[in-house]
Amino acid sequence: MNGTPRSLDLMVKSVATQLMAATATTSVEVSQRVLADLVSYLGVDVSFLRYNDHKIRASRLIAEWPIRPNIPDPDPLEIVYFADADPVFAVSENAKKPVVLRPEPATDDYQRRIEESRAVPATSMAAAPLLSGNVTTGALGFIKFGDREWSTDELNALETIASLFAQVQARVLAEERLRYLAEHDDLTGLHNRRALLSHLDERLAAGRPGPVSTLFFDLDRLKAINDYLGHTAGDWFIRVLAERLRRSGDGENLIARLGGDEFVVVPRAAMDEAAATALAHQLQSALREQVSIDGEVLTRTVSIGVAQGTPGVDTTSDLLRRADQAVLTAKNSGGNKVAVFTDDMAMKNEFRNDIELHLQNVIESGALLLHYLPEVDMRTGEILAAEALVRWQHPTRGLLGPDAFIGVAESINLAGELGRWVMRSACADFAAWQSRGLGENIVMRINVSPVQLVIDGFVESVAGILEEFGLARGSVCLEITENVVVQDIETTRITLAALKAAGVQIAIDDFGTGYSAFSHLKSLPVDTLKIDRGFVRELGSDPGDLAIVRAIIALAEAFGLELVAEGVETEAAALTLLRHGCHRAQGFLLSRPIAGAALESLLSKGRLAIKFSA
Ligand code: C2E
Ligand code: CA
Ligand code: CA
Repeated sequence: MNGTPRSLDLMVKSVATQLMAATATTSVEVSQRVLADLVSYLGVDVSFLRYNDHKIRASRLIAEWPIRPNIPDPDPLEIVYFADADPVFAVSENAKKPVVLRPEPATDDYQRRIEESRAVPATSMAAAPLLSGNVTTGALGFIKFGDREWSTDELNALETIASLFAQVQARVLAEERLRYLAEHDDLTGLHNRRALLSHLDERLAAGRPGPVSTLFFDLDRLKAINDYLGHTAGDWFIRVLAERLRRSGDGENLIARLGGDEFVVVPRAAMDEAAATALAHQLQSALREQVSIDGEVLTRTVSIGVAQGTPGVDTTSDLLRRADQAVLTAKNSGGNKVAVFTDDMAMKNEFRNDIELHLQNVIESGALLLHYLPEVDMRTGEILAAEALVRWQHPTRGLLGPDAFIGVAESINLAGELGRWVMRSACADFAAWQSRGLGENIVMRINVSPVQLVIDGFVESVAGILEEFGLARGSVCLEITENVVVQDIETTRITLAALKAAGVQIAIDDFGTGYSAFSHLKSLPVDTLKIDRGFVRELGSDPGDLAIVRAIIALAEAFGLELVAEGVETEAAALTLLRHGCHRAQGFLLSRPIAGAALESLLSKGRLAIKFSA
């Protein structure tokens, strides 16, 4: 029954049908089934399918039938290098046509190799090459123990079947290539985001061992490398770091690059926080080594965030969010740190996100408003100035003070816009009061965020607003915190000089805290110092505070600066200040921050009632 053209035809058809359904995942299994069919159909003893790997000049066993019992390890038939292979294997490196070998002396080597692994004597064989264009990509082989003749029709059928196998091979390779590309990062060859997500999804499934630890890496100051040395250097730097990560444990960890300078390492074993933190420190020091690029030796550091997820409880995005929050904390505390995720971080972050979300359109939505804090002469109660303090009528959280959102606004580049809103609104109110004959002698004090100071066109924008509302020179004072003044003294000097030229006064806010601006006072165009409320609160009871306040008072006198005490809450503080010659002040003892209308009516009275006497 074997070998008639018609039955061979049917055999080819059956093979074609089976192989057509094969995918990358099922190809080995399907191939094995087909080989089994062919063994019985052709009446041979063994069949095999091998793929060529021309890069290493070797042939690799893909499927065989029957499967040998007790396969030795290493299996001598698994990978066979053409260079040291017997002639039978050697021929399959580049064969283009079916080859038939019958027992004869020339194939002794081959016989021995087969005997070694099969323990059977003299055999005959037919092999058809798998071809892809001109390249021999593998071989389909059939072995008969003892001798067997192969008809031309049979060899033609084998050639056809081999071409069907070659098609499957091409499809599998294409699929694997696609999958590789889909799951790996081009630049580094590490896994990509998609691969990371599917790995974590699997690991966090209910019933899997936990906790699952995740280490989130962020290269510190990669931007500087890109900026100063170019993107090629930046890319090279990323590749070096990827390689170091890989070398320090590719097998035990899944390593992914999320793009940019972000890497994630997931230990494949369940790992608790302590072990994960230790691993993070270990990797951190491995990455800290120097790298040389174009002769420049760079020591770059990484920030690492560590977080845990519980299978069946946490999702992949929970886990990554935590790790991301932790790395943010590490970065914000100066970089080159390992930070472990905490619940406190989660709460702060939730608040922040919510603020950020609503802050985006806070200005258009008209939810911002200003309160004013009167500044008075404590001897008379006369109102000398008003400080504009921004408030936010938040849709769900009520009236928020600036501490809750100024920082967030700065971090999402909203400080400029928000600052302009405050400036225009305060000046508009101020101009409106003056148009009604009120507050013509007071100063409007406006807080300026450090970020605003360095925004291009800041001075011009201030000058424009003063002009728009026709406010007198010197009637508006900008408050700048002491820290900012000292940080970049040269830039500050230039900006402040330009502001002065535009007709605004300058006050140093929170004076006495942080880095001292003492030494620069002489060279900066400053009009007023505001003593930080931290020193004022306990005046009258804390002698240390009194010493500082007295020093500031002396300093202001020496430089001819106005002095304002902030945060006067008690009569004792007020009296102490008065006794030492500081009579301008603001604070809850005198007045709370009040709405614009309330300030206006206060201005119409001209003064506050002073309830204490010096
Ligand atoms: P600051 O410039 O030191 O403003 C004074 C703050 O102290 C105000 O808080 C005010 O309500 C509070 N205060 C006044 N008297 C007392 C007192 O006797 N005791 C106590 N404990 N506090 C008193 P607020 O309105 O929460 O402002 C906080 C900070 O937010 C301000 O500190 C200022 O640095 C900033 N800020 C306020 N408005 C703006 C703004 O429009 N833009 C910018 N960039 N920052 C602003
Ligand atoms: Ca202030
Ligand atoms: Ca202050």
